Amino acid sequence: MIRKIRSDDEVIWNCEYCGKENSVWVDFTIGEKQEFIEDCSVCCRPNQIIINIDDEDNISSQVKTLDE
Ligand SMILES: [Zn+2]
Repeated sequence: MIRKIRSDDEVIWNCEYCGKENSVWVDFTIGEKQEFIEDCSVCCRPNQIIINIDDEDNISSQVKTLDE
């Protein structure tokens, strides 16, 4: 699921389990592709967040369940 970026560092993602909106701060200086686990603030289930930055500095986020 692709979500718009609210600011340079804050990525909005929707929980794959309950659909609630969450945000996470990402340090984009670390790399162009980042994967990490974030617990949903509502249902506390872990989601795998994948952040990608393309050549034009467009940022996209993808959310997966850990069950896949
Ligand atoms: Zn949730």
